[in-house]
Amino acid sequence: MTRCEFCHEYIPHLAYPAHRAAHLNLLADGQQQEYASLPPEARFAGGLEYVPRVYVHLECGGGTVMQESIIRSYLQNPFIYGDGTFCTGCGKHISDRACFWRETGENLHDYMDRLRAAWLSKRWGRLGRLWARIRGFTK
Ligand SMILES: [Zn+2]
Ligand SMILES: [Zn+2]
Repeated sequence: MTRCEFCHEYIPHLAYPAHRAAHLNLLADGQQQEYASLPPEARFAGGLEYVPRVYVHLECGGGTVMQESIIRSYLQNPFIYGDGTFCTGCGKHISDRACFWRETGENLHDYMDRLRAAWLSKRWGRLGRLWARIRGFTK
């Protein structure tokens, strides 16, 4: 059995490619039906009251609400997603560098880098901070 990275159900190995492909089918607006996330029990379980949720794409001015399952996944592990994100304003995947959080005004990419730097520092202390600098997560 393989645990599905989208719905976290256990799926027989042979059936998994077709099962996974169904998750990746694009909806009419181009957004993936579901995005990969950590299993519910492995996600960040704390409060989200100070965590930004809506990002604005500079080019089109559209705001997109980040799904809670994704927020709780990257708060737990900020390395699981790449630099792309979906804009519901223009209906396509764009770079997170082109977006700002509506709540804080911070650039989305800078925010993710900050989470990555904090994660490294928490786990590996000085070595983690050095690595964060080498990787460019801290300015
Ligand atoms: Zn699934
Ligand atoms: Zn847009």
